[in-house]
Amino acid sequence: AKELGRDNYQPYSKDLHKRITQRLSLHNALRQAVDRQEFVIHYLPQVELLSGRFVAMEALVRWNHPEQGLITPEQFIPVAEETGLILPLGEYVLHAACAQAREWADQGLPHLRVAVNLSPRQFRQAGLPGTIETILHGSGLDPGLLELELTEGLFMRNLDESIHTMTAIRELGVGLSIDDFGTGYSSLAALKQFPLNRLKIAQAFMHDIPDDADSIAIAKSIIALGHSMKIRVSAEGVETLRQLHFLQASGCDEIQGYLVSRPIPPERIPDLVTRNRDF
Ligand code: C2E
Ligand code: CA
Ligand code: CA
Repeated sequence: AKELGRDNYQPYSKDLHKRITQRLSLHNALRQAVDRQEFVIHYLPQVELLSGRFVAMEALVRWNHPEQGLITPEQFIPVAEETGLILPLGEYVLHAACAQAREWADQGLPHLRVAVNLSPRQFRQAGLPGTIETILHGSGLDPGLLELELTEGLFMRNLDESIHTMTAIRELGVGLSIDDFGTGYSSLAALKQFPLNRLKIAQAFMHDIPDDADSIAIAKSIIALGHSMKIRVSAEGVETLRQLHFLQASGCDEIQGYLVSRPIPPERIPDLVTRNRDF
């Protein structure tokens, strides 16, 4: 039995070893990439349904790997989060996005918001509001044009501390939204206490709309919930006209998704925004 156990253990151990080695080398490569600033940001346009205007751009980071080309965030954000590299990386993204939004304003797009994703670890870092303030100051961006996206994970831990950090960020004039809303474990009691501007309906619900009754019910309740809290509601992952029509009829405020545009490099934004498009 002992022998069998060892035999069984071997392949698993090799596999584990391989995984650890891969993780370590990814960690090292990522650390080097942060030092060398091998990251680029693409922007996902958001449209306001009532006006049909482009109102915001969500910053989405990509790793511009010297050999492998553009690597999507799913492939490195989790490791960056685990190892703490998300802190310098996240700060870089925040900095670059604010500078970019200021540039758009200077180019004659004065009301275009920029949305930046904040990882849980970044959100919990001491001194975050001060860092945001310094970055805003450095870029000269109107704080009202910055919105930070948080995930529902925050509902589960350190409620008082989370409210405290959110309040300090809101006092800078910066907006706060909950990303991927509906997929986590939100407590409605906590939600009510958070100083939020926006809920973003998770992409997962959009997929089966308008054919699945449950997804429709969930999307409609999130819109009603947001509006009862007097905050705006956005839909993510909108790909079809049928989804758009459902969202218009349901009173959703803003949408983003491939129907509007894929994420694009910043230099293409002014052209896109000034060309009038109807949604
Ligand atoms: P997210 O914040 O939910 O961003 C939306 C993701 O959905 C993006 O993927 C976007 O390209 C994709 N998407 C947009 N519209 C559609 C659509 O109509 N259909 C489909 N199928 N997909 C759509 P991306 O760029 O690969 O980013 C993935 C995730 O990585 C983001 O999800 C976000 O959680 C994370 N992420 C990206 N940039 C950052 C960052 O700077 N910091 C942190 N902490 N996380 C980031
Ligand atoms: Ca997001
Ligand atoms: Ca999202």
